[in-house]
Amino acid sequence: MMCGAPRVSPLPPLERLSRGSLAPIRGGGWAFRAFGSCRVAAGVSDRRTEPAALLARLVPEGPWVEAEQVHGGSVAVIERAQTGIVPGCDALLTRLPGVALLVRTADCLPILFADPRRDVVGIAHAGWRGLLAGLPGRVVSAFRHAYGSRPDELRVAIGPAIRSCCYEVGADVAARFGRFAQGSGARWRCDLIGAAVAELRTCGIRPERLLDSGACTACEGGRWFSLRRDGPATGRLVSYIMLGRATGVTGDPSTRAPAVAGGPRSPRAERGTRREAGFRRRHVTRRS
Ligand SMILES: [Zn+2]
Repeated sequence: MMCGAPRVSPLPPLERLSRGSLAPIRGGGWAFRAFGSCRVAAGVSDRRTEPAALLARLVPEGPWVEAEQVHGGSVAVIERAQTGIVPGCDALLTRLPGVALLVRTADCLPILFADPRRDVVGIAHAGWRGLLAGLPGRVVSAFRHAYGSRPDELRVAIGPAIRSCCYEVGADVAARFGRFAQGSGARWRCDLIGAAVAELRTCGIRPERLLDSGACTACEGGRWFSLRRDGPATGRLVSYIMLGRATGVTGDPSTRAPAVAGGPRSPRAERGTRREAGFRRRHVTRRS
């Protein structure tokens, strides 16, 4: 079932959302503390964190499953996983413990989801195209249909992304975001986070279960990568979410075993070692 488009929902005051939930973790990277349950580990790398090292700390044996990220509205449910990229989708869900779900961003929104009652996690990459495709609502629908999740029990966190302070768009894009765009003539700013929050609220996510990192990738240049600010050659932040392998496993990767050997690797070298995942998936909400 489709949820409403962003513009039809009243925007809750952002001060009602939980803020400041990203905390630094030992060895680099950031974690959303107490996100859903102690079994859920969720967070993001930063400019100084080598993603491969972060992942090796988090899930020493893998698997790591990534969305291909095509700026669409498709969601893949991961039922059997090997390290690799799931083609054609921008969001992933799983109930498999020990499987890290990843997206890579540099201004787009990383949106993390957890159903602590049913032990299901999800992640989405949403830029303006994904938001217009209704991706946040499609993920909530996928939780409902694949796992019977109740939207009012889901925890959702929005990681570092470009915010209305820095996100200038043309009049054509602004026109598609309605009240989430402000400006005149050729100069408009767009509030992607506001649009995402509005859609999530329309779908039944409770404001007290919606965490906002509050971080702007373009403002905080020393900490995050930003495509707008640094150009296409900039790096990508890796956002991750996973279930611990056993009850009681801490969600804080800083308490895990240290990283396995291996120095920093370039994004190109890292990409070269990835291969397509040997997964079974269902596109729950493919756009027609
Ligand atoms: Zn900013």
